[in-house]
Amino acid sequence: MDIVTRTQWGSTQQVFNAGTVTPAQRVGVVVHHSVTGEGGSRPAVEDLLRMIERLDRDTNHWPGTYNFAIDYAGRVYEMSGRDGIGTHTAGHNTAYWGICYIGDGSKAYPAAAQRAATELISQLTLAAGHPLQVLGHRDLNTTECPGALIEATLHAIATDNSPLAVDGRLGHKTISCLQQRLREKGLYDGPLDGRIDVTHSDTVAALQTYLNAHGAHLVVDGEGLWQTGRPSATIAALQAWLGTPADGVLDLPTSSAVKALQARLNGGSL
Ligand SMILES: [Zn+2]
Repeated sequence: MDIVTRTQWGSTQQVFNAGTVTPAQRVGVVVHHSVTGEGGSRPAVEDLLRMIERLDRDTNHWPGTYNFAIDYAGRVYEMSGRDGIGTHTAGHNTAYWGICYIGDGSKAYPAAAQRAATELISQLTLAAGHPLQVLGHRDLNTTECPGALIEATLHAIATDNSPLAVDGRLGHKTISCLQQRLREKGLYDGPLDGRIDVTHSDTVAALQTYLNAHGAHLVVDGEGLWQTGRPSATIAALQAWLGTPADGVLDLPTSSAVKALQARLNGGSL
């Protein structure tokens, strides 16, 4: 996919300096619309991009703008870019890339723009190295953005909505899904990397906090979730919450407690 760079479209980017993050630190993409005309030609779209930039920088005094823009013909433009922290969704600019459709997403969302969005999001997923959440701006802030026509397409382009295999193995995808649910509950703000650190894991600490809110009495030390045959109090509390035998051990190679956890994650009940 060709991306029209800031230089190519004539950005005056000098004050877009909110800082940078690595793609691995992003958890998802927020889709917006500009509520402008569609442009009609590439130079006309570029005029709109410069107008948006002037508005965000000179009127709003924001340190960034959308990370990317997409026009009606499916052209993709770099704005704050892949690594820049944009300014597009209050409270979520570091964790999410912002992609803006140039036009009014309550009136039209052309197929070429939809294909471009899907391709851009799959490129960003590759860069991040983990599945991304794909949300509309209205899912995070009080706004009509990105318009009903765009909002309706977003679930179809979520890059990894497939359910977990209920295989009883505490693998990368199961942990990544657990991280996402704990994040949604405000208990975890680390990466969705599907990993549990051996010494102190923020993921395990978040799970311990969650279990304590459901009747457990764990020390929140970030340790004790492993599938090694070794017992832990955290595993016993997890099993008690899941309703599986609470022996404190996740059996190898498959664990009935992990199967129950995967079923809960698939059902959205964690
Ligand atoms: Zn928006």
